[in-house]
Amino acid sequence: MAAFIGKESMNKNLSLDHEADLSGAFSRRNFLTKTSCFGAFYAVAKLIPLPALASELLSDSRVSATPIVDKGFAAVRKVGNGLYATISDPSKGITTICNGGFLAGKDAALLIEGFGTPGGASFQMDALRMVSQVPVKGALDTHYHFDHSMGNAFYGVNGVPLWAHAAAAKRIVDNYAPLQGADKAAALGPLEKRVKDAKSDAERAHAQSDLNAVTGLFQIANSNVIGLPNRPIDPAKLPMSIDLGGLTAVLESYPGHSGTDIIVRVPEQNVVYAGDLLFSGWYPVCFDEKATISGWRDTLKKFAAFGKNTLFVPGHGQICGQEGIATLREVFDDIAGQAEKMYHAGVPAEEAQHRYAVPEKFKNFPIFAWGFTIGPTITKLYAEWQGK
Ligand SMILES: [Zn+2]
Repeated sequence: MAAFIGKESMNKNLSLDHEADLSGAFSRRNFLTKTSCFGAFYAVAKLIPLPALASELLSDSRVSATPIVDKGFAAVRKVGNGLYATISDPSKGITTICNGGFLAGKDAALLIEGFGTPGGASFQMDALRMVSQVPVKGALDTHYHFDHSMGNAFYGVNGVPLWAHAAAAKRIVDNYAPLQGADKAAALGPLEKRVKDAKSDAERAHAQSDLNAVTGLFQIANSNVIGLPNRPIDPAKLPMSIDLGGLTAVLESYPGHSGTDIIVRVPEQNVVYAGDLLFSGWYPVCFDEKATISGWRDTLKKFAAFGKNTLFVPGHGQICGQEGIATLREVFDDIAGQAEKMYHAGVPAEEAQHRYAVPEKFKNFPIFAWGFTIGPTITKLYAEWQGK
């Protein structure tokens, strides 16, 4: 992201709108929806409706048919004994943006994700309190990305220890702190130039989708006070078991999406909170400098070996079983298949990343932005093939 950021600017980004919002009740639903500056991110989010829960899952005895709470932007549903999934529908609001969930044992609870805003973390905490009054042992950011961490301040205010991969705090600082108070024109200028200078309609559309996404990221990073995880987890010490009282969670780390990815497994119930290592029915977001396509595909192979009754809570998209893993593997196979043909035909990476054609079977899969998903998957594959 560094290339998108103008470092030196000092302009004022706080509008009266924000002050009015913050002076009122800490209302989750209204926290973001009243502010007018989220237009661009809404434009992206509006295009990402959440599909209904698959009928196979409704007959799964672990999954309750009715959510315990549904605010539109997210709903919380029971997915096991003491296990709950918070599933976002970005088309209805961007308070949470990503999925998460919580585990409530007899003695303690574990919350998953900081979400895109403190209102999102607060919403999930309220949902936990609807079903359990046990003390909160901690909250976990499954990785550092803004849509999973910009609500971290909520945990700071409430004295909840915040866990994350040991590299997460620094990466939040490096990637999002420079956006705070940055000059919007300077930050977005290079992307606007890419739209203007595009050499084809496809390239222009892709550049525009990147501009919309980064505008949203800029707005969200500017509207929230950054909170950092204060309980770093050394990935070398994983797996780690956490006893919540009759409920054991296991933290594990896998490569692929961000270089900071940690999942929460509940082996006794075959439930996995996968974070963004699983995009369910979406094109995967691969732009991160630490994202590795071969690493991610290996990780998905391991998830596929978790057992056929495994229930996955993805970082984005609907709750799924093993079919969700199989589908994401197919998406990677399709991108790699098309890219490989272009590679052997001598098409340069720069051009190949714009030539990928979305096949009919994935045509309804959200693409968060071309330059966050398909584009970098292809350039990273090229780099792997070139032995870089
Ligand atoms: Zn992510």
